[in-house]
Amino acid sequence: MAVAKLKAPRGTFDVLSEDALKRRELHRRAWAVLGRGGYRPFETPVFEDTELFKRGVGDSTDIVRKEMFTFEDRGGRSLTLRPEGTAPVCRAYVEHGMHKLPQPVKLWYWGPFFRHERAQAGRYRQFSQVGIEALGSDDPSLDAESVLLLAEVLEAAGVRGATLKLSSLGTRESRESYLGKLRRYLHEHEGDLSEDVRARVEENPLRAFDADHVGTRAVMAAAPRLLDSLSPEDAEHFAEVCALLDDACLGYVVDPTLVRGLDYYTRTVFEFESDKLGAQSGVGGGGRYDGLVAELGGPPTPGVGWAAGVERILLASETKFPAAPRPIYVAIDEMGTRRQAFGLVTALREAGVRSELEQAGRSLKGQLRHAARIAARGVFIVGDGIEWTSLDTGEQRPVGGVQEAVRIAVGVVT
Ligand code: ATP
Ligand code: MG
Repeated sequence: MAVAKLKAPRGTFDVLSEDALKRRELHRRAWAVLGRGGYRPFETPVFEDTELFKRGVGDSTDIVRKEMFTFEDRGGRSLTLRPEGTAPVCRAYVEHGMHKLPQPVKLWYWGPFFRHERAQAGRYRQFSQVGIEALGSDDPSLDAESVLLLAEVLEAAGVRGATLKLSSLGTRESRESYLGKLRRYLHEHEGDLSEDVRARVEENPLRAFDADHVGTRAVMAAAPRLLDSLSPEDAEHFAEVCALLDDACLGYVVDPTLVRGLDYYTRTVFEFESDKLGAQSGVGGGGRYDGLVAELGGPPTPGVGWAAGVERILLASETKFPAAPRPIYVAIDEMGTRRQAFGLVTALREAGVRSELEQAGRSLKGQLRHAARIAARGVFIVGDGIEWTSLDTGEQRPVGGVQEAVRIAVGVVT
């Protein structure tokens, strides 16, 4: 009987070596950019109490309603594979009393996230995000800095021509009167709305701006806009963020319909979109969340941040990331022994030279073909003595011994 083939679960993928190299390189570049901005690396667990996301992300969001991988552990606790990083970072901020540190506390993270979504290109059930959070200040320069840093990460990753959309949602208080207005408008046009949106008019009317449903979109095109009803303080904050971005010569589109899929946003929200991604156009986005830390039981603490999808960045990237560095190859002819070859490779590696040796029982001819296939810089053939062949220049010469071989190899790789 045939044994059923095992496959990676739907919506997940293996990172093959070539992609793993690209991801490493992206991580390195992101770290360089974010480190310059004063952000320090930070990690939280891959799963958290389900309650964190219910409270932090919001009961009425798609993420909490439909997309979480939630399970019970053996002690009957409800845990959830993290669908996003902001609520966990805020939880950690409170748990470690980070409000006592000099503010703002600036953190960046990189790691796997999990959402039960319909899998397609650019949309997975396990994906990776790179993100930042700045906690403890509502200064508009932090909003602008955070937007600029995402632009810089995308630039460093070779993502060109992404569109930056920007808006402000106001503070929760100033939002309430607007939401009343919006709810009344939605009720007036109830017949044209999607069922999903209709069901959430009371709970989360802003989500209607985010709908794909044709009828809903038509209704929303004429809906009253939050951006037009900001309080004077919120309007001033937004104007300052825009002015700082103008000074930095970063282009953006003010999009009053921009609504992000998380309940916690206040004031600034933004998103970068790339037309290289098809339907999944969002590369990264974020915003300010001045009420979230308090919501999670901490002291009132403003915050701002973003997250970007690692896979989508690489899909949108036009950069040719560097290939693996080229090794030196140690071959064995019929006079040579495995011990000699092994000794030479060990000496080369100790001297910092990336090197490989014959380990698959190939003939000498097969070994030389293999050396070319792995793009080796040169080959030492171990036999009666040692012979060096540069695969770049074709130069060939006998080598006096292991020490001389190491000198040659170090000269070639540096
Ligand atoms: P989308 O509109 O595509 O569903 P989102 O608004 O849910 O995105 P965020 O929660 O803002 O996305 O997450 C930030 C970034 O993480 C996105 O811009 C995207 O690049 C990436 N991302 C989100 N969900 C997925 C997923 N299921 N697979 C791959 N990347 C994702
Ligand atoms: Mg989503």
